[in-house]
This record gives sequence, C-alpha cells and structure tokens, in this order.
Amino acid sequence: MSSYEIRSWRRPSDRKPEFGVVHPFIPTTKIFDNLSIISDSCDACFLLETTKGLILIDAMEPEQRFYDAIIQGIADIGYQPQDVKIILITHGHGDHYGAMAALKKATGAKLYMGRLEEDLAKNHPVGRFPAMDADADVYIEDGDDVVLGDTKVRCIMTPGHTQGCFSFIIPVTDEGVPHKMGLWGGTGLLPGVNIFQYLDSLEKYKMICAEEGVDGAISNHPPCDDGVIRAQMCREIGDGLPNPYVWTTEIFLNYNKRFEKMCQNMLKAAPDGIVPERREFVPEDAKK
Ligand SMILES: [Zn+2]
Repeated sequence: MSSYEIRSWRRPSDRKPEFGVVHPFIPTTKIFDNLSIISDSCDACFLLETTKGLILIDAMEPEQRFYDAIIQGIADIGYQPQDVKIILITHGHGDHYGAMAALKKATGAKLYMGRLEEDLAKNHPVGRFPAMDADADVYIEDGDDVVLGDTKVRCIMTPGHTQGCFSFIIPVTDEGVPHKMGLWGGTGLLPGVNIFQYLDSLEKYKMICAEEGVDGAISNHPPCDDGVIRAQMCREIGDGLPNPYVWTTEIFLNYNKRFEKMCQNMLKAAPDGIVPERREFVPEDAKK
C-alpha cells in the first residue's frame, strides 16, 4: 500500500524589508478600533487614538512622500495634523525617524525617544539617511509608560539592533474587546550588532510581554509580520471572522521565534557574536 506525505504549505518566515526601492503605499487601514497602520511594503508607522489625541509611533523615511502619506493617514481616520500630540520613535535609524522632524513642525507634537537613540540619529546617522533635525522633548526610559488621555504605552528598552532601541506594548481594542500588541522595535542584524545582546533583549521582551498578556504583534517593517497582507484582510474581512492581528500570548511568543532563528543563523557565520560587515558575510553559510 502506498503512503502519502502531508507537508506544510507555509513559506519560511524570512522575508526582509527591501530598502532603496519605491514601494507603493497601502490605504490607511484601521487594524483596531484605536490603531491604524500607514505603510508601504517596506516601512510602517501607526496612529494610536486616545481620548486626548493621537500618538504617532515611528515616522518611516525622510522623503516627502512618506510625510504626505502620514498627513493623508491622519485625515483618513478623521483627524487634523494638530491632533497628533506625541511622536514616539523606536530607534535612531532614518527609516523610523525619517519624516518625524517635518511632522513635528506640522503637528506641534512632542517627540518621545530614547536618549541614546537621539544621539545616534542626530550625530551618527546610518546609511543613506540624513541626520535627525529635531530634539527629543521627553527621553523615554526602560519601563516607562507614555501616557496620553486614557492610553498608556509601555516602553521596554531592548538594546541589540541599536544600543538604545525601544520596543512597545500598545493597548488596543477590537470591537471593544481589549488586547495588547507587542512592537519589537528593531528587527534586522546590521554589521556590528552584538547578537547575544539582541537575544538577551528578545528574552526580556518576551518575558514582559507574556506577563502583560500581550496577544498579538505589529511591526514597523511589514515584511516581518505580513503587515501588508494582514492590513488588507482588515479592510476586506467580513463581520464575525477574527481580526488577523488578534492571536494568543502563545502565538505571540511563537511568532517571536523568527527573530531567534535569524540570530541563530547569523551566529553560524559569526560565532563571536558580532555581525560582520556585509562584504565578509556570506548568507549561504548562515543557512547551513
Ligand atoms: Zn533600524
């Protein structure tokens, strides 16, 4: 008697953001009652609605079209630029603080970010991005709650991707039911990153998120969490089917294994734990 093998249809979770390419924006999408995503297929930022206005989380890249997309996104959900009261930035790379300085001027919002990340962004800009042209109004510290109106965003310092990178726990509701989304602030392993530090921070983040009952994840790089596809589902899904962002804590912890896997692969090519310069790094080696 012949036997049949049943295989998983899932593709591997190794999609990476493709930088330096013009990607189309998706429509501004409400993924929760109080949370919307503004995104192309590389970078994303989020608008969090509170009883005292909006918190913008990250600000994508510096080109005018990102600024325009965020201004449009604010209008799309029924607000004015001056309703943005806080701009909260995960870390000091130009694909996250990009449009922030112009938005800060346009909105009058206060800039909240880590002290080390402000220094990185202003004094040591990475890659093709210009230095950040704004000052933080409030330095966030490990364990802080950023509070606006009825809403508290928990800040967790997760050094690794950058030395002062922050991750966030964001309270949301789906048709009135509360949930918490984890945003892992810095995803990729850039040259010079200490992989062991990255893994330690990931453990800490997972532990705190589990304690807090985080039951879903969002990402500032949609390739990392199928953000574009899930946003499309949110726009089109019928009544009565579950929100694709609402998981369980167990699924959330399982999702984060993709970042562990990325580190374990990199450690095969960089056993000393420091990510090598790209020219030395042969990705094929890391897959073995
Ligand atoms: Zn980064």
